[in-house]
Amino acid sequence: MKDRVKDLIDKLNREHSLAREEFVYLIENQSEEAQTYAADLAAKTTLEIYGDKVYVRGLIEFTNYCKNNCFYCGIRAGNTGVSRYRLTADEICECADEGYELGFRTFVLQGGEDPYYTDDIICHIISEIKRRHQDCAITLSIGEKSKDSYKAYRDAGADRYLLRHETATVEHYNRLHPDNISAEHRYQCLRDLKELGYQTGAGFMVGSPFQTSENLADDLLFIKDLEPAMVGIGPFIPAAGTPFANEKPGTLEQTLYLLSLIRLLLPEVLLPATTALGTIHPLGRELGLEAGANVLMPNLSPKAVRDKYKLYDNKICTGEEAAECVNCLENRVKSVGRRIVVDRGDNIAFCD
Ligand code: SF4
Repeated sequence: MKDRVKDLIDKLNREHSLAREEFVYLIENQSEEAQTYAADLAAKTTLEIYGDKVYVRGLIEFTNYCKNNCFYCGIRAGNTGVSRYRLTADEICECADEGYELGFRTFVLQGGEDPYYTDDIICHIISEIKRRHQDCAITLSIGEKSKDSYKAYRDAGADRYLLRHETATVEHYNRLHPDNISAEHRYQCLRDLKELGYQTGAGFMVGSPFQTSENLADDLLFIKDLEPAMVGIGPFIPAAGTPFANEKPGTLEQTLYLLSLIRLLLPEVLLPATTALGTIHPLGRELGLEAGANVLMPNLSPKAVRDKYKLYDNKICTGEEAAECVNCLENRVKSVGRRIVVDRGDNIAFCD
């Protein structure tokens, strides 16, 4: 490892920030040693703040309809090869009931931007889950909405909101999305969510088409400035039926390295080892935990629809029952000396 790389990782560990050109240098000079060095420091930081605990979120993918056409996304409106489904409010609540029995205390309601689910329906689902399971947190991941809608969901009881910014560079954003979607609006949504008191999650794809080291450095600066409670990153994986179907995927190594840098940048952040990481490598999630992640998001959606929610190809964990997933994950987490806890798993800045 180059001396300057080690010095910069040490500086990031000490000061929790770096200049843009320093991030660019770290990204461009990634090596196996640098990755291991950053991962060790990141794991130590995670241990100091969250101990050996790994938080689990029960993911309920309730609709794969979407009105948008993001170029990278497998469930984009224009992909005619997708078999579409919607879960009813009752089905969604039943997923949460089953998850509760399995020990989940956070449910993530995720879907495409599907106008079928009006604000009233979303609010009804949130309040019904909260009525049944008062000790649980609800995370929404349903895309860009008006501030009034976000407020209505918050008033109904939603605690957290995931909205990946995808890339902090407007020109890059425009190459990943059609003209009717704007980067500025997406960034504004994130600021609105924070203002409304959500534990807000941002994030980006690693290795997306056209991405440069400068883009990644700007992503890191963006999340430093936003200070989200959660950051979700995963490798870009091409999806059939999309304009990027034949593009190169992002790498395991770069994703792990960036996870570690993010942990050092925002020590208290909740950081999932994503399903996409598990898709590009059989031990991707374990390696993610060892690189600084402390959250896993197994799927609670009914098995019958699981393989229809494919944002990218070859997605894992589409065939198991939720209980099997939990057992499998418990073993994986134990194998790296950590443990899954029954807990809402709030960011410590949001704990009493
Ligand atoms: S990334 Fe999200 S908003 Fe874009 S097409 Fe896919 S589901 Fe829709």
